[in-house]
Amino acid sequence: LAEPRLNIPPPEQLFVPLSVPTKLLFGPGPSNPSMRIYNASAMSLLGHLQADFHHVMDETKAGLKYVFQTNNEYTLAITGAGHAAMEASIMNLVERGERILVCNNGMWGARAQEIAERQGCDVRVLEKSPGEYYTKEEIEQGLKEHKPSVLFIVHSESSSGICQPLEGIGDLCHKHNCLIIVDTVASLGGTPFFTDDWDLDCVYTGSQKCLGAPPGISPITFSPRAMAKVNSRKSKVPSFYLDINELGNYWGCDNGPRRYHHTAAINLVYALRESLALLAEEGLENSWKRHNDTIEHLWAGIEKMGLEMFVKDKVHRLPTVTSVKVPEGFPDWKAVPEYLMKKYKLEIVGGMGPTVGKVWRVGFMGHNSYKENVDQFLRLFKEAIESVKNSS
Ligand code: PMP
Repeated sequence: LAEPRLNIPPPEQLFVPLSVPTKLLFGPGPSNPSMRIYNASAMSLLGHLQADFHHVMDETKAGLKYVFQTNNEYTLAITGAGHAAMEASIMNLVERGERILVCNNGMWGARAQEIAERQGCDVRVLEKSPGEYYTKEEIEQGLKEHKPSVLFIVHSESSSGICQPLEGIGDLCHKHNCLIIVDTVASLGGTPFFTDDWDLDCVYTGSQKCLGAPPGISPITFSPRAMAKVNSRKSKVPSFYLDINELGNYWGCDNGPRRYHHTAAINLVYALRESLALLAEEGLENSWKRHNDTIEHLWAGIEKMGLEMFVKDKVHRLPTVTSVKVPEGFPDWKAVPEYLMKKYKLEIVGGMGPTVGKVWRVGFMGHNSYKENVDQFLRLFKEAIESVKNSS
């Protein structure tokens, strides 16, 4: 037998031990998971079709219903980043050529617009400046003018720090024969949210922010009204991977026997399950209060430093991710996150999309949302700002 010849040798980098420094993730996400969550993700691998794993999936599903505050049967976690849930929400509910109205007041509205365009939807946009929210009147006006089948809106626009009020908007959409999709990637678990009471049709989130689990698994829920729409589609959902009926069967949401759909990120499901267990033990209301108290503490400290928040009105600020305005004439905004990372292994970031160069984004979510972390951050943030000012 001829000697096999490898054109690509084994890479030298892989002969050194994996090295991952511990960092303080005080940006817009991900947040640092607690040891209990890390430990859960290191538990023994199960087969994705074994009853033991189905049991963990069922426990996770119960926790998701709690955090979404919903009785929706179709409540599960997609194997994929928040983007997978974004894609799934639009792909299942809007057919090619069908009209969607996207509320775009920042990076995530813009991203939904892009996704809907790529999926061949008839996309209309309600545009607002970053840092502003939509009033019911503006939404109703948009619904009357564009007559969409689906409205997409972001609850937690993490690029600006605005929190979109949602009470009454679900009803408005239904009055105009339209379904509503809501992005809560940067808020669910950290701020009051009621899927059923607010009559929302599809809501999704991420695992890596207020839930404090690692990224890569994304909870999503579909109302019975949303499922009726999916089940009356003229065409098949174009993605097999993101088809909610296929996913729902795998997650035990229908009455059929579970079929193989894909191999779930089993260990991420363990981590998500454990993050939901922590939330259940703490109580959702207590988690909301903790996030709020922590962020109020941050805002007070930031104001004491003479800085301002990008979203002026406190009532409409997210209690999870805050945008702090870069002061007029500040020499080099990038140097502040760089200083914190280099000297203290602490992550904050600049703006995103329309807020680039205008803000620093700071977040205290999940296991990071404690006043002690804010105190530590404020001390180091002040030092970084002084240092950048003095060295310019
Ligand atoms: N929506 C919002 C509001 C977000 O903040 C993010 C992540 N920053 C996403 C969607 C996308 O999530 P992921 O990075 O997990 O795809």
